[in-house]
Amino acid sequence: MKPYFSSCNIYVGSRSHFVRKMEVYYKQFGGSFKFIWRLWFYMVLNISMINILVRAEKVDSGGFVLYCPCMGRFGNQADHFLGALGFSKGLNRTLVLPPWVEYRYGELRSIQVPFDTYFKVEPFLKYHRVLTMENFMKTVALEIWPPQKRIAFCYTARGDGNGCNAKEGNPFGPFWDTFDVDFVASEFYGPLHYDIYHHDMSTKWNEKYPAHQWSVLAFTGAPASFPVQLENRELHRYMQWSELIWKQAHDFIKQELPTGAFVGIHLRNGIDWVRACEHINYSPNLFAAPQCLGYQNERGIATTEMCLPSKETIVRQLKRVLRNVKGAVAVFVASDSNHMISDLTEAVKRMEVTVHRLEPPNPHVELAILGQSNHFIGNCISSFSAFVKRERDTHGLPSSFWAFPTERVSANANQSHDEL
Ligand code: GDP
Ligand code: MN
Repeated sequence: MKPYFSSCNIYVGSRSHFVRKMEVYYKQFGGSFKFIWRLWFYMVLNISMINILVRAEKVDSGGFVLYCPCMGRFGNQADHFLGALGFSKGLNRTLVLPPWVEYRYGELRSIQVPFDTYFKVEPFLKYHRVLTMENFMKTVALEIWPPQKRIAFCYTARGDGNGCNAKEGNPFGPFWDTFDVDFVASEFYGPLHYDIYHHDMSTKWNEKYPAHQWSVLAFTGAPASFPVQLENRELHRYMQWSELIWKQAHDFIKQELPTGAFVGIHLRNGIDWVRACEHINYSPNLFAAPQCLGYQNERGIATTEMCLPSKETIVRQLKRVLRNVKGAVAVFVASDSNHMISDLTEAVKRMEVTVHRLEPPNPHVELAILGQSNHFIGNCISSFSAFVKRERDTHGLPSSFWAFPTERVSANANQSHDEL
């Protein structure tokens, strides 16, 4: 079993200490009766102490936060996850790491992928107490969250009727079904909200829902905002790819890309995106746009070029970056639809740069590869791009965006020393 609880470290610590003590005892008493009695006494004492420690830690007296990542695909869920992590820390409740919700073409029900398929669990423990939902259900839930105590939390009523209807629709139903969870009641927590960095919100939650009465807060959706709140962005540092993803990304870079520096680009251009971008003029801060424009549009408003850059913009910016990245020999293209491989290959041919993609596609491996590039160009509006930008920021690696800052501003910025 993986060491999900910090007490497991204590457990391991006591064990080796125990063995060392035993050796000392053995030397001192050389197999006498006295030794056996002392050994027996010591063992009983140790086992009961370990049990107490493990139990105390397992059933976290601060309580637990549970939620369904029921909105959007990976990028949205990752934004929400960071918010939920900050929220749980604020309330001093253990965060139960939910599986990632995925949608397969032609399937009516979502698929739940265990959290640790994509990310390591251990790094989060440096920040806060967490455990996977699979583990929570197998251990803690049996004790503190029996079927008759399962209450769904939501801000106000949703769906048909006047409860949370936490299992109504997809992925709501399939998500909780994965763990055989049904709810017996609903709890509306409004007007409380998730911004624990203001308004003394954590205290308000803990006053209304003290952990000794409400050991589990099970949310119908993520207890977080979208896009991610500024204060929670830096929690991305604890998101580290699992070995499974990491190895595939690493192998691709080593085996498929020529040796040297490479530029990673994200081209978000599928039909759903083309439709979303049509609304950009009415939504000047659409989706992940605040990563470029600021949360109050203090750095401008979203444009169609930012959302769906033209071929000219892509080629021009890519060439500019390639000229500036020392020793650049390759471009890695990640896309949900059109990778523009032949157009880009043609455009950078004279620079002796080759253009690559991952086949078959794998969004998580592609994200991990983009994270490793020498320079990344992403899409301001896309939360998929935002994931890469955050990861790179935590490592101090350079990134830029399509059509941002707008040309006029960047021309000025090039002339003056006031870089934006
Ligand atoms: P957003 O819609 O761009 O904000 O990001 P989301 O992650 O919420 O939804 C987009 C989804 O499209 C992703 O989760 C992926 O499944 C898919 N997708 C988007 N860009 C790429 C890409 O570059 N490569 C692959 N393989 N899939 C992508
Ligand atoms: Mn999306």
